[in-house]
Amino acid sequence: MAPTNRKLLIRGGQVYDHDGDVHHPPVADILVADGRIAAVGSNLATDGEHDVIDASGRLVVPGLINAHYHSHDTLCRGLFEELPLEMWLLYTLPMGRNRSHAEVRARTLVGALESLRCGITTVQDMLGLIPLNDEYTDIVLSAYRESGIRVVFSPMVADLPPIAMVRHQDNLPADVQEMLGTKALPMREQLDYLEHQFKQRPGGGTLHWAIAPFAPQRCTSEMLGALAALAQKHDLPLYTHVYETKGQALIARELYADHGGSLITYLENAGMLGPRLNIVHSVWITRGEMDRMAAAGAGIVLNHLSNLKLKSGIAPVCDLREAGVRLGLGCDNCSGSDVQSVFQAMKMFCLIAAASEPEPGKGLAHEVLRHATLGNARTAGLENELGAIRPGYRADLILIDLNDVAYLPFNSAARQLVYTEAGRGVESVIVEGRVVNTPT
Ligand SMILES: [Zn+2]
Repeated sequence: MAPTNRKLLIRGGQVYDHDGDVHHPPVADILVADGRIAAVGSNLATDGEHDVIDASGRLVVPGLINAHYHSHDTLCRGLFEELPLEMWLLYTLPMGRNRSHAEVRARTLVGALESLRCGITTVQDMLGLIPLNDEYTDIVLSAYRESGIRVVFSPMVADLPPIAMVRHQDNLPADVQEMLGTKALPMREQLDYLEHQFKQRPGGGTLHWAIAPFAPQRCTSEMLGALAALAQKHDLPLYTHVYETKGQALIARELYADHGGSLITYLENAGMLGPRLNIVHSVWITRGEMDRMAAAGAGIVLNHLSNLKLKSGIAPVCDLREAGVRLGLGCDNCSGSDVQSVFQAMKMFCLIAAASEPEPGKGLAHEVLRHATLGNARTAGLENELGAIRPGYRADLILIDLNDVAYLPFNSAARQLVYTEAGRGVESVIVEGRVVNTPT
């Protein structure tokens, strides 16, 4: 990452405002100092110390946030198709384990590069880090620093083995059980690792922490309770995979009968259901569970791209919107979606909502842009920090070239960003007030 002056004036772009004219944003200047937006307005003066970026003919948009990502398999894009999730796991879970230092660094950088090139300024990396130790954590975090991207980092933890995600597991051959994984680290060891990281590498700048139990069915209620307490203690968000496949709903009904057959109730009984919690996927969530999530202030991160490709199903977008659950969007694994493109995720959200409700409805493009910026910031506990171009917010911005054919003619910023943009128009990316130049 090339270091740049931390004082910037972005002059004369059309500045996207969620609450303004989302089709034809007015021209404005943006002053940036110390990584934050200092002012937005017309003809802003500088003190002569600012680097000036001419943004005429550019659309300036809040940096896109990817609320669900795994950097551990970025090198596996294009390897698979036509596999349902449980079979895909047979291949992908073993591949992420015990890789070389060079590979871990490379996969982190490749994922960050792809993200930046597509206008993503923050990734929420729910990393399967094996081994879970200081040395590997250092490699990942130094690669993130080098790339310049913002990361909400949450190495996944679980005290039950991966095989716990599979129903009727005893019917599987022993070698297949072994491929999935039949062992888990002790709970105490993982809690100590997290406490140590939070103390040794406190969040700040472009590093933020989150806590990520892999999935409720991979954790004892004792572990979930301890993680909820840890999140409270360190004021951190929680992310966990819930109801990705129909098989997981079956596990809930059969194995969690003591909790009403509901993984949401299991999380609630462990003390985890609340405003810090974000559940990822929710393809097979019931309406009653959605209403309880909404009442608790918990959020849902949708990943239509991987849910469709891995044959998991279609998340109930219309019911989720009606229930008023706060929503975020993710791009998920590179071996399961296989792209880090919030543009694709936004478009898919709108297409599925459109096909799920045949009656005419209100426009969705400006709504999904909120989910991918403000909504995703909220999942990370970074509301009022990220997701909008407003004074006081962190200066994470993208400049879109309106001369790209996707905007010829330029009829609507919101609609063309969501339905037309493929990432090609992303010209400059700014994170924490720094221009992040990516190699071409
Ligand atoms: Zn995931």
